[in-house]
Amino acid sequence: MTLTTDAAQDLVQELLRAGVSQVDSSVLARGMYSSDASLYRVVPEVVVRPQHVDELHAVHAVSRFSAVPVTMRGAGTSIAGNAVGEGIVVDTRDLKRIIAIDVDARTATVEPGVVHADLQRAAAPHGLRFGPDPSTHSRCTIGGMIGNNACGSRALGYGRTADNVEAATVLFGNGEVGSFDSRSGAAQGATARQLLGLAQGDLAHVRTRFGQFSRQVSGYSFEHLLPENRGRIERFLVGSEGTLATVLEAEVRLVVDDPRRLLLVLGYDTVSEAADAVPHILDAAHGEFGPNSLIACEGMDSRLVALVRSAGKPVPQLPEGQSWLFVEAAGDAADAVIERVKTASSAVDTRFIESSAEAAALWKIREDGAGLAGISLQTPAHSGWEDSAVPPKHLGAWMRDFESLLKEFGLQGYPYGHFGDGCIHCRIDFPFKHGDPSSTGVFRDFMLACAERLAVYGGSLSGEHGDGRVRSELLPFMYDETSLDLFAQAKRICDPQNLLNPGIIIGPQLEGARAGQPGGTGARVNTEDIRPTRPKQTLPWPGLLMAHDAGDYGAAVHRCSGVGRCVAPRTTGVMCPSYLATTQEKDSTRGRARILQEAMDGTLVHGLSDPAVHEALDLCLSCKGCASDCPAGVDMAAYKAEALHQKYDRDAEGLPRRRLRPRSHYVLGRLPVWAKLAAPVAPLANLMMQLTPLAAAAKWVAGIDQRRSVPRFARRTLRRAAQQLSPLDATGSSARPRSATHVPGASRATSATRATGAGQPDVWVWADSFTNHFFPESGLAAIEYLQSQGLDVRLIQKEGCCGLPWISTGQLDQARRRITQAVEVLAPYVSSGVPVIGLEPSCLATLRSDALELSDTEEARIVAAGVLSFAELLTRLEREGRVRLPDLSGVDVVAQPHCHQSAIIGWEPDRMLLESAGATVTKVAGCCGLAGNFGVEKGHYETSVAVAETYLMPAVRDQRQRGGDTVVLADGMSCRIQLDDLADVPAMHLAELLNSRERDARSTRAPL
Ligand SMILES: Cc1cc2nc3c(=O)[nH]c(=O)nc-3n(C[C@H](O)[C@H](O)[C@H](O)COP(=O)(O)OP(=O)(O)OC[C@H]3O[C@@H](n4cnc5c(N)ncnc54)[C@H](O)[C@@H]3O)c2cc1C
Ligand code: SF4
Ligand code: SF4
Repeated sequence: MTLTTDAAQDLVQELLRAGVSQVDSSVLARGMYSSDASLYRVVPEVVVRPQHVDELHAVHAVSRFSAVPVTMRGAGTSIAGNAVGEGIVVDTRDLKRIIAIDVDARTATVEPGVVHADLQRAAAPHGLRFGPDPSTHSRCTIGGMIGNNACGSRALGYGRTADNVEAATVLFGNGEVGSFDSRSGAAQGATARQLLGLAQGDLAHVRTRFGQFSRQVSGYSFEHLLPENRGRIERFLVGSEGTLATVLEAEVRLVVDDPRRLLLVLGYDTVSEAADAVPHILDAAHGEFGPNSLIACEGMDSRLVALVRSAGKPVPQLPEGQSWLFVEAAGDAADAVIERVKTASSAVDTRFIESSAEAAALWKIREDGAGLAGISLQTPAHSGWEDSAVPPKHLGAWMRDFESLLKEFGLQGYPYGHFGDGCIHCRIDFPFKHGDPSSTGVFRDFMLACAERLAVYGGSLSGEHGDGRVRSELLPFMYDETSLDLFAQAKRICDPQNLLNPGIIIGPQLEGARAGQPGGTGARVNTEDIRPTRPKQTLPWPGLLMAHDAGDYGAAVHRCSGVGRCVAPRTTGVMCPSYLATTQEKDSTRGRARILQEAMDGTLVHGLSDPAVHEALDLCLSCKGCASDCPAGVDMAAYKAEALHQKYDRDAEGLPRRRLRPRSHYVLGRLPVWAKLAAPVAPLANLMMQLTPLAAAAKWVAGIDQRRSVPRFARRTLRRAAQQLSPLDATGSSARPRSATHVPGASRATSATRATGAGQPDVWVWADSFTNHFFPESGLAAIEYLQSQGLDVRLIQKEGCCGLPWISTGQLDQARRRITQAVEVLAPYVSSGVPVIGLEPSCLATLRSDALELSDTEEARIVAAGVLSFAELLTRLEREGRVRLPDLSGVDVVAQPHCHQSAIIGWEPDRMLLESAGATVTKVAGCCGLAGNFGVEKGHYETSVAVAETYLMPAVRDQRQRGGDTVVLADGMSCRIQLDDLADVPAMHLAELLNSRERDARSTRAPL
């Protein structure tokens, strides 16, 4: 169904007239909501975001009146194409009230848009939690969980969503509102009566075909309508994927959140052997300790874990084996359960995870399974067949069949999932080819073959994700004609106009079923709406190498599979600060990726110069949070830089062409050049910037928001100041002057010795442009501190700018020249084996990552692998016993790691140093909000402040209230400027903190 422009406009007007406040039919909105986390792309006509449940009534009234379909949506993390649709898409994330928590009854009443993690947070103080635990818990909504009957890792112990819904108020597609609560008697209302009548009509059939095992999630769950199950309409509707009714409010069960959780990891040689062990493990635990004694029994392939390791992220030690089962028990009997499981497991090796931090790290790896699995093979792996379930006793046999089917079709995938429930997830490298519709044939044939084989085990096509677009038309493999007829009748009763998520669960397959054949002649696979098979453009002349995607920008932006970690309302990392600040889809990594995908391959957005691309990227801070936090490795800062480069520096054929850029690009985007020019007259330049009219004019020219201060140039650059430094000897006196800066022959050297000269120091310090021109104190502090430890420290005098401002504004040709020069300067020093450190984390991160995107030389690789942060150097030196940290006992440190440091370098060495010196450390999540040019540019002030208010400012305010010996630590120039502007808080670099405390200690040690 595609509406004409006029009809679409009429629809918008109808919705507005009906009182729906946020109605958006822009290209941007339609592009962003055309996908969920599935393979599918269906462009809606309009997206609405109700601010009140009453608006949901209005949306549905308009839908019925205009005969336009409606698809409900929470976080849009559905993997089967359940949350995309033509017509109206309803984003419910503003309906997020937790209406009540009844601690005695252990229930919570919520609106549908409440995020699972927010409910957990609200329940936690009462020692309670919502049981089902999908991997997407940080962002998925209760409405979406009800839609899909979501389960997750702990459903073994706590049940599926269906088992945890106690009551619900819903709006059926026929317009009737129903409130259902089996505790207050039989379900009332015409629709409910008809539904109950359906089950009553063939009780024997319903009893023998439905609810045969816990993960029979495909189709409609008629077992809940049986009299022995008290005819629970509210539970029957769970898993109906928004095709029968819209949930307006739900009361869900809470369970006791036992703080005592034990995790045992069992190792097996193969995944099939792990699967074989599952029934024995379940029998052992359940036989002796009861049905819910095991909370989780999850399968994990070693190759997925290897991927985490290869990304340089820490992975706790795991037992021997190629496949693991993560087994969790909780409560008083947990020790005994775990011991019993271990005995029954036949594992080749086991490891009991004692530390809760290690357990959390392992669960996080398991949660990221889908994202990791998507990028674990040589070619991208896809969802589609990835959610089937069998009764656990058949898991080993089904796993072997599944693996042999993969082999038969020449496909690969690494299985993982909820093995204890018989549910296997697996992303598969279907050979979708861009521009070749026939390439979907392998996908279709594989799906059909799997569905046929699964039926032998009485399995379910879906174990928790729902049927969506990908599996609904396969239902005839799983259900007979009578069952499919029941589905059709239920749909006709609840949604006679077929307006609620049409095509899902109820589709053309019914005709096949009526033909009376197993699988039905109508059983088929929806391949028309699949995303990756669409023709793909490449950039003829990209500025970045896109090394992780073989130089293909299109492939890079398609990394985003929509798993939605970037739309979580909270983070402990960085991603995605702009979404956290605005909560708008367009300001999320996912929203941006969708628009870039449309620009490359879609029909709505016309190239990277399209206004929709600008709108989507405008509030991206280029913080690189996604580069490390997104499980699929989306690096939006890089994609934005490339998009800007293409827009301003390339024509339609990709040939060089210069277009006029925003003013800020010429000033802020070339800041190191201006800083160098201003250096000789820095005091005068600073003085002039204090004169209001001059400053206002300068800000206007530079495209700086008037509310921002202009960064002050250092009176003496680091290079000049270091020349006059009197180094301290090991005992702390400054009696032994020597040249700390002389670097003979560094510029044109071809070998390390020629470059660095004879008589190597212990440490080289690189004067990056920001430290050199704006914050030389951090460089001087680093030098002084290291010298106080008796080390010979010298500053590299030769200039070398990493070009970061050019990169973030997409001036990539100039950036390449600069970084190439910096690499030429630094490579001989790094090659010499003497540690080279950089003080400004963003510049260091640029050398460590962006350099490799701009330069494919061995020198760039040497520099990227060799330059160190101050904390990394100290960690190394401390290990070697060459430095002694000052005593930081009693010091309360609130630290804002620079976002690029978090993403590229990591902040763990900093934390460990501080803690080992005795400080109490609070690490601030997110980004400071300034992020280089971003926060000072005109038009970004409000967002920049909102980002700072997400985590940084509250942390600083909390610290102020605590009082005592407090330090705000921020190594990044951006973070320090932001703190200075917004909180009037002087922040320190780690080097300044250590040096000042060391100085204090020296002065108290010095004889009077
Ligand atoms: C990486 C990844 C891991 C996952 N892991 C798990 C897992 O471990 N376990 C699991 O069960 N699932 C998992 N899922 C699937 C998905 O995250 C869950 O089903 C989740 O509960 C969906 O929530 P959502 O808010 O994103 O819903 P959406 O995807 O937005 O919607 C889900 C369905 O509910 C319907 N719906 C939404 N709101 C309403 C409403 N108010 N009334 C009626 N219908 C509504 C939608 O139309 C749609 O059919 C995973 C998905 C991803 C991408
Ligand atoms: S950007 Fe990453 S985290 Fe966000 S939806 Fe895409 S894949 Fe998921
Ligand atoms: S770079 Fe930062 S702001 Fe931009 S999408 Fe990634 S996490 Fe969000």
